[in-house]
Amino acid sequence: MDKNGIKAVVVLSGGQDSAICLALAVKKYGAEKVAAITFEYSQRHAIETKYAANLAKRFNIAEHKIVSLDFYRELTTNALMTPGVEIKREKNAKCPTTVVEGRNAFFLLAAAVWAKSLGAAVIYTGVSEADFSGYPDCRNDFIKAQQKSMRLALDWPVKIVTPFMRKTKAEEWEIADRLGILDLVKNETVTCYNGIPGEGCKKCPACKLRNRGLKEFEKSRALTSKARRARG
Ligand code: ZN
Repeated sequence: MDKNGIKAVVVLSGGQDSAICLALAVKKYGAEKVAAITFEYSQRHAIETKYAANLAKRFNIAEHKIVSLDFYRELTTNALMTPGVEIKREKNAKCPTTVVEGRNAFFLLAAAVWAKSLGAAVIYTGVSEADFSGYPDCRNDFIKAQQKSMRLALDWPVKIVTPFMRKTKAEEWEIADRLGILDLVKNETVTCYNGIPGEGCKKCPACKLRNRGLKEFEKSRALTSKARRARG
């Protein structure tokens, strides 16, 4: 079944989480055994796709596929896909207007279908429950259920790997640093809801979360090296 020798498929959005996921998969399996999949779902910023393609190239992985889920906009409205919807959290709302209902469920199933065709069973996704915006399909309970459901749907031993499920953004930056890709993730990913790469617009919730985590990481790194110097 292992026709291309690919072991893992990374859901690659072009943001920092998925970029670090890609690096982790490459470290574990080797670039020639890793593929990535990026989805276009009428998100406001096509720039994400460009950044994902660049990451795939930078890591020299075996295959990168960009798939259109254009039908998505016919099903739901939100601030990422629908012009005119403001980015905000309504009073008492469980999640902000940026939630794309069911996005990870669609993405994971599509990634698993492709993975099976490649003979791969491992799917990497950068979802996290720790710095949680209230998106229900980022929860570990969902991931576990989705894995079970996909195994049944595909009759294939799908394994969803979520390296950041319990990690804060600061911890993610630390992992990027340890992997030697801190600058790459800082400069060559786009997380911003306004589609501005790197540190972004600095105003939207995605930028605030990313930049706060980076600051926390840099602070703790400075403290650690100070302590090390003090120990001599
Ligand atoms: Zn932003």
